Amino acid sequence: MARVFNFSAGPAMMPLPVLEEIQAELIDYKGSGMSVMEMSHRSKVYQQIIDEAEADIRELMGIPDNYKVLFVQGGATLEFAMIPMNLRKNGVFDYIVTGTWSKKAASEAKKYGKVNVIATSEDRNYSYVPDVSDLPIDDDADYVYICENETIHGTTYKELPNTKGKILVADQSSMFLSKPVDVSKYGIIYGGVQKNVGPAGLAIVIIREDLINPELDKSVPTYCSFATHSENGSMYNTPNCWAIYCCGKVFKYLKKLGGLEAMNKINQEKAAILYDFLDNSKMFKGTVDKEYRSLMNVPFVTGDADTDAAVVAATKAAGFDNLKGHRSVGGLRASIYNAMPKEGVQALVDFLKKYEEEHK
Ligand SMILES: *Cc1c(COP(=O)(O)O)cnc(C)c1O
Repeated sequence: MARVFNFSAGPAMMPLPVLEEIQAELIDYKGSGMSVMEMSHRSKVYQQIIDEAEADIRELMGIPDNYKVLFVQGGATLEFAMIPMNLRKNGVFDYIVTGTWSKKAASEAKKYGKVNVIATSEDRNYSYVPDVSDLPIDDDADYVYICENETIHGTTYKELPNTKGKILVADQSSMFLSKPVDVSKYGIIYGGVQKNVGPAGLAIVIIREDLINPELDKSVPTYCSFATHSENGSMYNTPNCWAIYCCGKVFKYLKKLGGLEAMNKINQEKAAILYDFLDNSKMFKGTVDKEYRSLMNVPFVTGDADTDAAVVAATKAAGFDNLKGHRSVGGLRASIYNAMPKEGVQALVDFLKKYEEEHK
């Protein structure tokens, strides 16, 4: 077995002990005589899997009782549409655009109403988060939307926006379960799970109960109504049984590790190893303003595209995979999600140090 240190932005690494547990249960899940992949979602044994997954994520995140946890297919991208469809009252939506993902979400919302971009960091290629303490929130805004960790540009919020009483909606895909969050400050938190949790094709939506509207316009597809998922325990149709099962394993793994406080501490230490190197390097430099640097996605450049490409090739040859930066930022990007071990980040830094030494 040869596992590489995989710095992919997503789908991304999963914890090895979780993969091993899944492997051990693959053919015969706990004496059921079948794989979770082959199991009826209406069976008792599967019901227990999804119930435990929900209970465990509730415990991990401290989700209050007046919030529902929904397992929805279609990834984070379907949520870009489901959110305006479901929360539309006045048809006015306020978006803070800090990178590719919030921009995409804003552009999707335009199909369902009027979108105000109330703040953006586009002027400096999304390398920071704008001041969000006193924004021109529309009186009619149905919600204020953020992408709390921009996966491609590598920024994260230090403080949540002052929404002046409006509902806050956050895409947390690339920071999901990476640190404790106060769920009660949000109307909706959602994330595609393939960055920080499990296999692709599933979004977890944590939604305050009063935002679930069963009386949506008849033109809204049944699957796209939060009420459909809420009223049917995320099983209106066949859910992504496999991804829910794998995520449940990761929730148990995180609980055993000490929960999100413990995870956050490890993530801080990991990111510090890489950022300290970048801050002291003469060859490599981070692209994001210090205050807003993500603990999960770390873009960096040499300033020369050919050198960037040479470094990417060298890292790959040395067993570090997926370090090529997204084309909109260029350079390199190390995604160091929950499952990336500290040794992986340390090994990468050691390699880059040596590379710099040898290419002065
Ligand atoms: C990856 C990502 C998405 C898109 O996720 P899909 O599951 O591919 O739809 C949306 N938002 C953020 C922040 C992401 O990182």
